Amino acid sequence: MTKSFIQLHIGIDDTDSLSGNCTTYVAAKIIEHIANFVNFSDYPRLIRNNPNIPWKTRGNGSIALSLETKKRYVEEIISFIFNFIKNNHEQDINTNPGCVIIEGEIPQCVKDFAKRALISNIKIDEAKRLIEELKLKSFHIGNGRGLIGALAALGNELKPSEDDFTYELLTYRLKENIGKKRLVSEESIHLMDKKLSPFVFNNIDEEKNKSIITPAGKDPVLYGIRGEDANTLLEAMKMVKTFEEIERYCIFRTNQGTDQHFKFAKSKIKKYSVFKGEIEVQTKPKTILGGHVFFKGKVLDSNKIVDVAAFEPTKRFKLVVKQLLPNDRIVAFGGIQVFQGDTFTVQLEKMIVTHVSNQYKEISPLCPQCGKRMTSAGFSKGHKCKKCGYKDRNSKKIREPIPRQLSKGLYIPPAGSQRHLIKPNRRYEIDKKIDKKIILINNWWKKMKN
Ligand SMILES: [Zn+2]
Repeated sequence: MTKSFIQLHIGIDDTDSLSGNCTTYVAAKIIEHIANFVNFSDYPRLIRNNPNIPWKTRGNGSIALSLETKKRYVEEIISFIFNFIKNNHEQDINTNPGCVIIEGEIPQCVKDFAKRALISNIKIDEAKRLIEELKLKSFHIGNGRGLIGALAALGNELKPSEDDFTYELLTYRLKENIGKKRLVSEESIHLMDKKLSPFVFNNIDEEKNKSIITPAGKDPVLYGIRGEDANTLLEAMKMVKTFEEIERYCIFRTNQGTDQHFKFAKSKIKKYSVFKGEIEVQTKPKTILGGHVFFKGKVLDSNKIVDVAAFEPTKRFKLVVKQLLPNDRIVAFGGIQVFQGDTFTVQLEKMIVTHVSNQYKEISPLCPQCGKRMTSAGFSKGHKCKKCGYKDRNSKKIREPIPRQLSKGLYIPPAGSQRHLIKPNRRYEIDKKIDKKIILINNWWKKMKN
């Protein structure tokens, strides 16, 4: 890199809303517009942050672009991007776009900020203060909530030497098709998944045997395929048949499917934060209205009592949770919410059953004379035999073990009920990718249709 070139990192967040649009699409369009003036040094990074923040749309995702450009282009690129977001974000009271620019290396304090954004609830003021301290160029609309995600994406570099990462290829729809039914061949998705497994993941919900790569509603995304490397995703795209045209596609590098939030999570009980800690079951799980399963648990690090919940759509996972009994122990992975009263609830995203306790029931002993089961003769009066009349005032109840169906081990909800950050079963099958390099392939994005 010569002196006339400069490193530029652009963080973007919260241009979407529940009614449509998508931050990845805004990023994909920005990429197209600046491509001739820059050299991208990385795929656009799609960073998922703490999924427990209630006011975030969908997956709490934000984007970072890393590139090199000539010094003389910098001002123009930045003002183009700020204007582009201004003119292309979703007009919605709950949409508060933010964009932050960093020139040169990412400062350590931004990396620390990003770590906390994965697991805790960061206030807007904190993001604004950091931007001011570092004298970063930034732009926001509304209350500036998007600045949090913009900084979080910038600071989360997903370095191959430190972090696990995956890719997602997103295809986008022609403008005139947005809002209409998505025309993608279900059969072709199943074939693609079979052929490219285990290097693609979360295409099919294993319980429903249905594809989950297409979002619902007005989102401009036609479908998204997740996988281990960019070339496999291009191959996957060729295999998925659609009956509508694709406007463009773009491959993102992402922390989806990596459990990155659990890497930093602790067992502290704090509202909306990510939780990881060992819990001893205190009460038998019960199913409440709506099908959610709840039990009381004791956090072993602090002896605090919490509610632990598995939610209705988690299906088979929920059935495992229902088999837990007092004194069993799990390592719980999830988020802290408050649902009713002021008891904190750990909302389970996955768990490791670490101890299956012995459970007993108390029964009366057998008759020593005739072998028939005796009955209690009343409180502390021993037992009597109804068949032969034998009595023993001193005989005690005996404890009989109850067989347990539950096994120790890791339990994860099916793909259709997983949050973006959760590492799915299929990824455990792949050898640890210690030497996973970032190789920017030629066709990592393409505009196919105007
Ligand atoms: Zn008897």
